[in-house]
Amino acid sequence: MAIHFFNGDFIPKEAIKFSINDVGILRGYGLFDFFRVLDGVPVFMDDHLDRFERSAKLMGMELPYSRQKIEEAIRELIKVNGLPLGSIKLVLTGGESPDGFASGKPNLVILNEALRLLPEHKYTEGVSLMTLDYTRDFPLAKSTNYAVAVGLQREWLQKGHEDVLYHAGGKVWEVSRSNVFFFKEGKLITNEDGVLLGITRKHVLKIAEGMFEVEIRDFTLDELLASEEMFITGSNRQLLPVVKLDDKVIANGKVGERTGKLVEELGAYVSKYVRAHAVK
Ligand code: PMP
Repeated sequence: MAIHFFNGDFIPKEAIKFSINDVGILRGYGLFDFFRVLDGVPVFMDDHLDRFERSAKLMGMELPYSRQKIEEAIRELIKVNGLPLGSIKLVLTGGESPDGFASGKPNLVILNEALRLLPEHKYTEGVSLMTLDYTRDFPLAKSTNYAVAVGLQREWLQKGHEDVLYHAGGKVWEVSRSNVFFFKEGKLITNEDGVLLGITRKHVLKIAEGMFEVEIRDFTLDELLASEEMFITGSNRQLLPVVKLDDKVIANGKVGERTGKLVEELGAYVSKYVRAHAVK
């Protein structure tokens, strides 16, 4: 049975207990982060822990353990659970409240679970997205508030979509759990403001630097619809081609050549990282 970290203890999932007065539950005051563990290597862990710390600051929360202690706990889980293809999920809640509103002593959970992969055909055929006029609260923080997306999932699945794309006031933001990229006139474009700065986004930009001209700027839904190729990035999905928005097909409705190349390049880049960080 897999074990997980909860406030200093290494215990099975069933033993993790929260007070109903935790403001993470009552008021949605909580943080989250997620990354993959491949062959025992936590992929881009430093980036994710940096972001977890930044998210905590942005939301006025304090981490109850040092960075070193959190890293040690993650490595211990990976060693003990021994999952060949795993994930780490960090959750920090605002803690048990004395009055149902004030935050308390934060709770830290680190889950180490098997990784759920998307079927291969989604990468070769691309996916479609539903669009929604919406702006996330605390866009730069990875909070636990995904309520709008969770509430809409049934609708987008019924319509055959993979996820929901947020836009507002003429600007495209991001997908519920991914960043957005597209090609226009040969340039690779992605936004920087008003979105969670994804770790996958960061590394894809690094890879793309040597391959294409890159533009970091705001863009509109119309630009996306008229794009040559589009894809989204995230730690779980990696780099997933998008070929349709609502009922509108992008370009010829097929995965573009440059996107396909980036899928391959990112795979090779991550494999190289895993080899370089393998525990000897
Ligand atoms: N935007 C949001 C809102 C997300 O939840 C995620 C997933 N963490 C991303 C973008 C992509 O970030 P990353 O590449 O770090 O997984």
